[in-house]
Amino acid sequence: MRVLVTGGAGFLGSHLCERLLREGNEVICLDNFFTGRRRNIHPFLAHPDFELIRHDVVLPILLEVDRIYHLACPASPIHYQYNPVKTIKTNVLGTHNMLGLAKRTRARFLLASTSEVYGDPKVHPQKEDYWGNVNTVGIRSCYDEGKRVAETFTMDYHRQNKVDVRIVRIFNTYGPRMLAEDGRVVSNFIVQAIKGEDITVYGEGKQTRSFCFVDDLVDGMVRMMETVGFTGPVNLGNPEEYTILDLAKKIVAMTGSRSKIVFRPLPSDDPTQRQPDISLAKQKLGWQPRMSVDEGLRTTVDFFRKELAR
Ligand code: NAD
Ligand code: UDP
Repeated sequence: MRVLVTGGAGFLGSHLCERLLREGNEVICLDNFFTGRRRNIHPFLAHPDFELIRHDVVLPILLEVDRIYHLACPASPIHYQYNPVKTIKTNVLGTHNMLGLAKRTRARFLLASTSEVYGDPKVHPQKEDYWGNVNTVGIRSCYDEGKRVAETFTMDYHRQNKVDVRIVRIFNTYGPRMLAEDGRVVSNFIVQAIKGEDITVYGEGKQTRSFCFVDDLVDGMVRMMETVGFTGPVNLGNPEEYTILDLAKKIVAMTGSRSKIVFRPLPSDDPTQRQPDISLAKQKLGWQPRMSVDEGLRTTVDFFRKELAR
């Protein structure tokens, strides 16, 4: 199979490329290196089945492929808010271009959507049939609404042009190859703890998130791509839910750090709770996370210790 991975040099994309190569596919990684790094894909650059294209999905591209995993889009709030107009263009124009490519080549297309389509959810835990509670004009909207349009585009190409599509809604995922400075909570807390710096909890830390280890997530994406007769959307995430304050305490204890926990202002529109209902993924894909949060965090701490020692 010739597989295109957009955003393939990023955190999730590089793990996905690795898995697809291991399974004997030809992999084309397409990335504009906004948040991706050559170091993430360095081990595969010499692989005979791996090809790297530096390209921005906002512009069309002609390729011949069998599968398209469409991940290109910055995922951390700091990065997607850095140039919000570009984030919207990436989600709208980029997804349009990749769906056009899927239509022309008859490739199967998978959209990496997000739990952010649920916004600040009034239903807990979140099921796929919940339509969400999203601010259209806030600082997170470029990402949240961008992904919502991307989902709409995907289903309209499916209904109107018979493109074979899949949508996964990814909940907070963490693991090796996250950027130390990308501002997401797991990388921030681990890096702060290792360096002995203050652990910055936003608000009172009562907001919750549910954290999935990257290998589990990638497994869910591949299962979804290869499952026939099911477009989704389907939630992929680990239902183990933590308050941000408890996560901070857990990471301080795990690293044996002397860091103090300090409180900083809560960014606007920060969702108060988030937990996936994964019954649909269990039923349709036979999927559920295998890695416990403790084990996944330990692996990620080991990664950052090596990363920071460089
Ligand atoms: P990431 O920032 O590490 O990776 C995104 C990749 O896309 C980077 O390599 C970046 O350079 C590339 N990219 C960005 N804009 C591009 C453009 N216009 N053209 C080409 N390449 C572009 O983020 P990630 O955590 O690996 O997330 C990957 C995908 O999964 C994103 O679509 C994100 O919305 C989705 N997602 C991730 C999470 C998570 O917790 N990691 C949660 C929900 C959804
Ligand atoms: N957060 C925090 N301290 C940090 C970074 C993030 O308390 O240093 C909080 C943030 O306000 C949010 C949660 O952790 O409530 C998850 O943030 P992240 O940016 O990882 O993802 P998202 O908000 O998109 O789920």
